[in-house]
Amino acid sequence: MVNDRGAERVRGGHLWIYASDILGFEPAPPPPEATAPVRVRDRRGRELGLADWSPQSQIRLRLLSRGAGDTADGAWLRQRLEAALAYRRRVVRESDAYRLVSAEADGLPGLIVDRYGAALSLQALTWGMAARQDAIVALLERLLTPQVIVERNDVKVREREGLPLRSGMLRGESARAEVAIHGLRFALDLLEGQKTGAFLDQRENWLAAAQWARAFQVESALDVFCYQGGFALHLARACKRVEAVDSSRPALEAADANAARNGLENIDWVEANAFDLLKHYDQGGNQFDMVVLDPPAFAKSRSALEAAIGGYKEINLRALKMLKPGGLLISCSCSHHLAESELLGLMAAAAADARRPLTILERRGQALDHPVLLAVPESAYLKCVVAVAR
Ligand code: SAH
Repeated sequence: MVNDRGAERVRGGHLWIYASDILGFEPAPPPPEATAPVRVRDRRGRELGLADWSPQSQIRLRLLSRGAGDTADGAWLRQRLEAALAYRRRVVRESDAYRLVSAEADGLPGLIVDRYGAALSLQALTWGMAARQDAIVALLERLLTPQVIVERNDVKVREREGLPLRSGMLRGESARAEVAIHGLRFALDLLEGQKTGAFLDQRENWLAAAQWARAFQVESALDVFCYQGGFALHLARACKRVEAVDSSRPALEAADANAARNGLENIDWVEANAFDLLKHYDQGGNQFDMVVLDPPAFAKSRSALEAAIGGYKEINLRALKMLKPGGLLISCSCSHHLAESELLGLMAAAAADARRPLTILERRGQALDHPVLLAVPESAYLKCVVAVAR
């Protein structure tokens, strides 16, 4: 039984119920090892739906279904996976790498499945989904006949659920995958890479960056926090010269191999701390027609936001100062805690400090295969602002 606050949140379309919203259990609380879904009722005994139970997380219940008689059985799972697949068939263009299942946004809380060509990478991040993992793998095999399935259950959030961290091959032999995105070939290692191998949420923004570069006849571009070269490779097809910076040597080596795989010879890969490099370039008077900023999440929590805003502002200010007149700034943030309005605000402050007025060309978000569920604000996290500086 949940209190009014929990019931209202769920009736408003959210899927989470916090431990502090739970009033009690009938007939008794589930034992700590229980994995079966539980029925959720409000104070008056009205049914709200069926939910996965997490014994340790502050998010104690996650709604699986709202129907009174529903059971979260194999048919339910199959239907949700098929719906997730059907949606991707409609929204994904020119890519065989994309997020196939995006957890809450696909009605499957705690489950992530990414497709990389003939390989699938799976994350079961909650107690309930971990218990279902074998059934999910069997269904994915039947629906998609992948050659390879890996699990990347080595993410910190599993600890909050009391689940062990592990990664490895579930099916197939090799964790090397090769994919084609917008006509570019990328190779990656599904067990080594950050996230599940690539930052697929930026995929549509890579393409947009190249389109803007063409529209503004950008000759020189700087891709800061480039990882394996998503922006840089797309930009290299549109610009004369691209410089791409990351602090991770393995990421740059993979990026360089990706450039070679596509016959692109106009990218310089630079291993550096982005903060030091931007400062150095700013003082040295280096100039570019376009700068892309795609830092890791500086604000991992609401309380870390103040310090994070300082970091975001610093890199935006330096990037602006090295833009040629009429140059483009593409500024991203993947931190859910930094709202788009806050990103725009700090960009405006940086623009004022640099005396480089900015015009917004476009405000973008995560790729469509990472759907945003309107009632679950946490499902929207990536911001990508495209602006032109005077
Ligand atoms: N732009 C990439 C994703 C970037 S993820 C894409 O679209 O695919 C963030 C990247 O920042 C990671 O590759 C990480 O290695 C790098 N990074 C983190 N801190 C850094 C720092 N201080 N200087 C340079 N790179 C850093």
